[in-house]
Amino acid sequence: MAEFSRESLQQLDAAHHLHPFTDSGALHQKGARVIERGEGAYLWDLDGHRLLDGMAGLWCVNLGYGRQELIAAANAQLQQLPYYNLFFQTTHPPAAKLAATLAEILPGDLKHLFFTGSGSECNDTVVRMVRHFWAEQGRPERTVIISRHNAYHGSTLAGASLGGMKPMHRQGGLPLPDIVHIDQPYHFGEGQGVDPHAFGLERAQQLEQKILELGPERVAAFIGEPVQGAGGVIIPPDSYWPEIQRICKKYDILLVADEVICGFGRTGHWFASEHFGIVPDLLCMAKGITSGYIPLGAVAVSGRVANTLIAGGEFFHGFTYSGHPVACAVAQANIAVMQKEHIVERVHEDIGPYLQQRWASLGDHPLVGETRGLGLVAALELVADKTSLTRFPEEAGAGLVCREHSLDSGLIMRAVGDTMIISPPLIITREQVDELIEKARCALDLTLTTLSNRQGKHHG
Ligand SMILES: *Cc1c(COP(=O)(O)O)cnc(C)c1O
Repeated sequence: MAEFSRESLQQLDAAHHLHPFTDSGALHQKGARVIERGEGAYLWDLDGHRLLDGMAGLWCVNLGYGRQELIAAANAQLQQLPYYNLFFQTTHPPAAKLAATLAEILPGDLKHLFFTGSGSECNDTVVRMVRHFWAEQGRPERTVIISRHNAYHGSTLAGASLGGMKPMHRQGGLPLPDIVHIDQPYHFGEGQGVDPHAFGLERAQQLEQKILELGPERVAAFIGEPVQGAGGVIIPPDSYWPEIQRICKKYDILLVADEVICGFGRTGHWFASEHFGIVPDLLCMAKGITSGYIPLGAVAVSGRVANTLIAGGEFFHGFTYSGHPVACAVAQANIAVMQKEHIVERVHEDIGPYLQQRWASLGDHPLVGETRGLGLVAALELVADKTSLTRFPEEAGAGLVCREHSLDSGLIMRAVGDTMIISPPLIITREQVDELIEKARCALDLTLTTLSNRQGKHHG
């Protein structure tokens, strides 16, 4: 017997807890789902229902729930030294060791790490760091950072400003000055009928147009997620990233890869920059760095950026929990398990291709206009008409209908508008992939029934 009933927890929650990214009124009507425990790729709610976690928590529980190695590492570090700061010329073993380990697995010459507590804090750090970098280079007028519409870079002032989500900008008077946006490389949503290669080039070349419009002497950096996550698992055409890299080089603009989702094996590489053939000057990581067991983020910087920062006197920036010893110890254990179990190779060569092949099989469903994916992240587009690829009207809420049916079928799948997305734990087995596909198909069938019943009623 649980100590609290579901109803009493829901009441306490509704009375005192303001949830992130939530319409509280709507939530209180319904009552929050209470998740009680997890094991491997599964979660259980307080009523004992088992859910296959198709989202790895929030894109982060890459090694699954209940990994004893991570729990033991946290425990041991809590005993040894639960906290100490890294200000005032001090370090501790977990932070020093983790920085060195990350320097080894990162691509290019990203050999220096600045620790934060989250992905948002990474991006706040990026804004201050790139502007400070250019000031130290004697170019203080280089302040503008270019991002993309529908990007997600977190929820702090800088994170939400770099992000391109209009509803977020509307709350709180964002974006901050000198942060501007170009269009995203979303082929299904915005490039219908255009050859994907040409579309990728066109979207990348918007960067050059924007740079010329602003004046190259004013631009500090370009930031992008190699694969947009929260925006709907948007995988750019292969032509996109090399063109972005070329333009950044041409105008000497820093390239920032936000790998908060993509990093740590999600795409079948340690970092997705390797897949897309780019070498960023700064790279943000969080989420999968600890498999979500404890909060941690890090910004990796190239030699050029690091040397300028090192020569530039004090950088007036940092957090009480920068490089928290327990978080660093868990990250170290997380990386050790990934290496020992060849998780990245497995995603690249075995379970990634298997998931993608099975996910593509959903493409024959009458509701599905496109399937796409890379490694262990995937999306499908719900459409009202499979031939013309016409979407449902927004009021139909097709994505939310599908999400609810998916939950009822025992699978956590997320809806971004009418794009259904998955990002399961990297330890998912073939049997569990089969279960995921079966449940997703079941959710699609139920969604089709719900939406056609509604339409029938409309016409009748
Ligand atoms: C989740 C996310 C963030 C924000 O990370 P938090 O830890 O929630 O602050 C930033 N960038 C990307 C790409 C993300 O997916």
